[in-house]
Amino acid sequence: MTVTRTLPNRGRRTVGAWCFADAYGPTDLAGGNWGEHPGMWVPPHPHTALQTVSWLLAGEVLHRDSLGHQQLIRPGQLNLMTAGRGISHSEETPPEHSPWLHGVQLWVALPESDRHTAPRFEHHAELPVVSAGGVDVTVVMGELAGAVSPARIYTPLVCADAALAAGASTQLPLRPEFEYAVLALSGTARVDGLDLEPGPLLYLGSGRSELEVSATDPARLILLGGEPFEEQLVMWWNFVGRSHEDIVQARDDWQAGVGFGAVEGFDGDRLPAPALPGTRLRPRGRER
Ligand code: MN
Repeated sequence: MTVTRTLPNRGRRTVGAWCFADAYGPTDLAGGNWGEHPGMWVPPHPHTALQTVSWLLAGEVLHRDSLGHQQLIRPGQLNLMTAGRGISHSEETPPEHSPWLHGVQLWVALPESDRHTAPRFEHHAELPVVSAGGVDVTVVMGELAGAVSPARIYTPLVCADAALAAGASTQLPLRPEFEYAVLALSGTARVDGLDLEPGPLLYLGSGRSELEVSATDPARLILLGGEPFEEQLVMWWNFVGRSHEDIVQARDDWQAGVGFGAVEGFDGDRLPAPALPGTRLRPRGRER
């Protein structure tokens, strides 16, 4: 399955507290040489100091975690896992599934004040939708145009999914103190005067109070934004920390089977951590 990772990238580490963005699919689960496990198959692995956001345009993903949650998501629903001091989970395409899989996996860095919080998991089957000019905007996290997602957030941020009908045109209200980026997930949309297709992340910076979006044919966009995240981070494998020592400790704990609980019900082994690089991991700021 082809995955396009647009955050972190060479020039930019974060957009608001958003520190990781993977888009995958649309992938045909009926074709190809999938072997035993068509689609997504991510064995139990740990996380620290972040939130994972799972959002689908097509298909289903089954989440299991070390707190005992087992939760299927479908398009339009949010699985939000807050790792805090430590959690482990698996994600897989369930045995009974739709023919296509298409979605995003996003991470939010937790601020210093909350990075050691107790782990938690939220499933939101219903999210607010605001519509204007042929654009349906689902507010996945944070607030947009007065609609507020019920998902718990730890810093001021937003994630919104915009579905543009053929001929759609509208202005999305933005906050000047936020920085923003847009990822196209399907079709071609005109965003701030540029034709945006699936692939790159369009960084918009801050200081804007609105964003013009339009499309000739149906298109789908994800808007990410937030107050610029000023803390320096060390990101390695599935861990977010503030220092090399944070990462070494988290890796040692996972390898020793300490601090991340256990995922029940997954039909396979957990993922071992890769070897650390020979050099010290350095904290990095928002930009290169
Ligand atoms: Mn994960």
